Amino acid sequence: MSEFQTPNERVLSTLNLDGTRRWMRPVLAAGDFWKKRMITGWALIALFVALPLIQVGGKPSILLDLPRREFTFFGATLLATDTVLLMLGLLGIFLSVFLITALFGRAWCGWGCPQTVYMEFVFRPIERLIEGSLKDQEKLDAKKLSGRRVLKWAIYAVLSVVLANVFLAYFVRVETLVHWITSAPSEHPEGFAVVGITSVMMFIDFAWFRDQMCVVACPYARLQSVLLDKRSLVVLYDSNRGEPRGKLQRKSVDELAIGAVQEVGDCVDCAACVRTCPTGIDIRNGLQLECISCTQCIDACDAVMDKIKKPRGLVRYGAQQEIEDKVSMSAKHHLLRVRTALYPLGLLIIGGLFLFALTKRTNAEVNVLRGIGAPFVVMDSGDVQNTLRVKIHNHSGKDHAYQVTLNNASDLQLVVPNNPIPVKAGELRTEGMFVIGKAAAIGRGRDLELVVDDGETLKKTLTFRLLGP
Ligand code: SF4
Ligand code: SF4
Repeated sequence: MSEFQTPNERVLSTLNLDGTRRWMRPVLAAGDFWKKRMITGWALIALFVALPLIQVGGKPSILLDLPRREFTFFGATLLATDTVLLMLGLLGIFLSVFLITALFGRAWCGWGCPQTVYMEFVFRPIERLIEGSLKDQEKLDAKKLSGRRVLKWAIYAVLSVVLANVFLAYFVRVETLVHWITSAPSEHPEGFAVVGITSVMMFIDFAWFRDQMCVVACPYARLQSVLLDKRSLVVLYDSNRGEPRGKLQRKSVDELAIGAVQEVGDCVDCAACVRTCPTGIDIRNGLQLECISCTQCIDACDAVMDKIKKPRGLVRYGAQQEIEDKVSMSAKHHLLRVRTALYPLGLLIIGGLFLFALTKRTNAEVNVLRGIGAPFVVMDSGDVQNTLRVKIHNHSGKDHAYQVTLNNASDLQLVVPNNPIPVKAGELRTEGMFVIGKAAAIGRGRDLELVVDDGETLKKTLTFRLLGP
């Protein structure tokens, strides 16, 4: 007997029983939700493109400058040293995700995630336009290579380069990106490599990986089971109304009375909800990890209900508890729960702490370091010279000049080539300087106080240990 046995049912919706890839070719259900999602999707695409271009206080509205470890959000720049602020910001994002999921399930996945938005409103429509219906696409699969498929890939490749640049604009200044695009690759091989690799990854994602991003790669899908509860709003199938499912039958009162036909629920088992699902699941099996709340099954089923003259909503937004208890839930009952009260409370506390930390934040990060090389030198005159480096990161939003002086050390001399030290807004500058004193005044070691003053809002005293022979 073979060591591996074919499972009786799919382990993943995107895999066939034999473990090969199951390609998703969802049939479009262009209903009311689809129209709303399309408007939202295109508004979001415009926003994704515009955000790095919009300037707030002379800076991009969002810029995550990883090499410089500077994170700009709507005019405020946080540095890697702003640990508390960054930690509170991240905590706030996590709690907001928890709250939105507890209330509205995977609304983000279906309505807002760039993966879904680009896939469903850019790449998939192009595929349908070029390759045709589901049957036409399956015919193309049988051919080794077809002109239509090559055309689709060519358009995908161009779009992937565009989207890679949109994505990178959140990490690299737009001016730098424009320079990378408009100049020869030999002038900026690293930049060219970054754009090239990101474009290839985009192409692989939207041309090949697709639904697997939501099903196997995204950690959010795995988290949802702990974030959701039975009162969260999810896309569900009303099994109370739909079961027992069966083909639509013409029934007369007499036939029913004598039991000639079996009474069935509203689900006519047409599988329209399954054929339209981009992750290949059957919503009638209950809430599943693969469901991204895209609402396509709602639109598909509503169209069927319209056709057979039954009320819409066999597949709809609702809470699992409604199905279990066979009741409809009020908005208040849906919204008010322990977790939906605790999360906003947590957000309020985090928001307060964030604002408090922001007001306490100084306008510059100032540090003193020992000079590179020998810690001190004894000069020909017998005096001892220590080399220092003062590091100033100006994140005040405007240019400043920082005056460095010694505190209570009239017997020592401070030599700074540029004093005050000019530092432009957002810049980090390290300035070397010397402290010279008689050997007796320094001894084997002496603590020193340096004052750094920008003349406006920052006056910081730094301590430094001078060393002597
Ligand atoms: S089950 Fe319905 S809502 Fe969930 S992914 Fe499939 S089509 Fe979208
Ligand atoms: S689309 Fe509606 S009627 Fe058709 S199988 Fe799905 S739930 Fe049943």
